[in-house]
Amino acid sequence: MATRIPIRRRRRTKIVATLGPASATPEMIERLFRAGADVFRLNFSHGTHEDHAARIATIRALEQKVGRPIGILADVQGPKLRVGQFRGGRVQLQTGQPFRLDLSPTPGDVRRVQLPHPEIIQAAQIGTSLLLDDGKLRLRVTHRREDHLETEIVVGGPLSDRKGVNVPDVVLPIPALTAKDRADLAFVLEIGIEYVGLSFVQRPEDVAEAKAIADGRALIMVKLEKPQALDNLDAIIALTDCVMVARGDLGVELPPEEVPLAQKRIVRAARAAGRPVVVATQMLESMIAAPSPTRAEASDVATAVFDGADAVMLSAETAAGQYPYEAVNMMDRIVARVEQDPGWRQLTDAARPEPEPSSAGAIAAAARQVAHTIGAEVIATFTSTGSTTLRVARERPDCPILGLTSSEEAARRLAVVWGVHPLMTQELHSMTDMVAKALRAAQAEGFAGRGEEVVVTAGVPFGTPGTTNALRVATVK
Ligand code: PGA
Ligand code: MN
Repeated sequence: MATRIPIRRRRRTKIVATLGPASATPEMIERLFRAGADVFRLNFSHGTHEDHAARIATIRALEQKVGRPIGILADVQGPKLRVGQFRGGRVQLQTGQPFRLDLSPTPGDVRRVQLPHPEIIQAAQIGTSLLLDDGKLRLRVTHRREDHLETEIVVGGPLSDRKGVNVPDVVLPIPALTAKDRADLAFVLEIGIEYVGLSFVQRPEDVAEAKAIADGRALIMVKLEKPQALDNLDAIIALTDCVMVARGDLGVELPPEEVPLAQKRIVRAARAAGRPVVVATQMLESMIAAPSPTRAEASDVATAVFDGADAVMLSAETAAGQYPYEAVNMMDRIVARVEQDPGWRQLTDAARPEPEPSSAGAIAAAARQVAHTIGAEVIATFTSTGSTTLRVARERPDCPILGLTSSEEAARRLAVVWGVHPLMTQELHSMTDMVAKALRAAQAEGFAGRGEEVVVTAGVPFGTPGTTNALRVATVK
């Protein structure tokens, strides 16, 4: 029998890659995984349930093939406003020309397109600005009718099917979960995925509602993309499982100069609360059409790594771009390079939040300290839900973290977490068994060799969530 060569990442910061038409085949999904995608994102703003079900099946088959847990993020659209479709898929809007937004689903052209949101048409006023495609194009309302808006194109440009519309001037009475979101949620929760991306969250109640629907079947990843959410940041983070800095819409709703500071503030708050945080959107945007990024984009990815994000995300680069594989590969290279820098380690250590004031928090902090002092190769964490592993990851130790679990669900959920190599293991019977399994896993996955040390942490009695209370040091024989 051929020996399995363990797949492990050479970096701590994870990569989320969005799937789409450019990455729909099993071959491309496997290439993206091998290049470094730890989590795949399905964007429910696009595609049918059949498309998404096929991708989920492909990812699950890939997990079997490569023997690695892979996370799936189902990103539901939320009350995102979008235009309809165009004849031929796209048009070029000319500055100064009139353009109509109406309710007709007939494919649009240079004179009109559908805006399938009667509430905006109702709420708009003469002079209201509509921002299209992440704010690249701007329209100004000149006339409002019962069923359409006449606008002037203030800033023109290319516009394609289903691009986003932001209306910063108008407060829209739209619920956080639309009817489509509820149907999408029911669909993904039935199939089984790891994280639900919740768009346009504004209030803690929005999170509570989604959590009640998910009912433990998936983690909630709140997308912070509304200024209103920043006013409630701590309360929202306290309720959610994971966080995304969704810079696309955030950067349309907020002035661009506010986005870097918002990113830092959100990452810091999520890190302090021990919630995994993903930095998303436009990270390698130019790679949609070019095989290498701009230097500014390389710096942007590096900044997210320096900020201490758990993961960085690719959107259109992998979903619809010409170079999906190259984008993941480039992201992997940038992240790995930053993490080799002694300055990155220093900053990571300096930004470490205080341990949680609990025995579990203290053990996690001690695991990092012990591993650092003795120069351990890996910290092996045993977890039934992921919580022990998450606590250790919050400490940002200077060695990798093994997330050992008998729960397939927990292993997959750890895919997005900084520094964690999730791995399936059998249930534990005793402390002796725990140490033996930790050493065997560390060796088999290539983390520690003979004579090297492994720090082991778990909650005893085993299988009781939330009780991180055991710490051992063991040497590979
Ligand atoms: P979206 O979310 O791609 O679903 O809009 C991400 C963002 O807004 O940055
Ligand atoms: Mn968004």
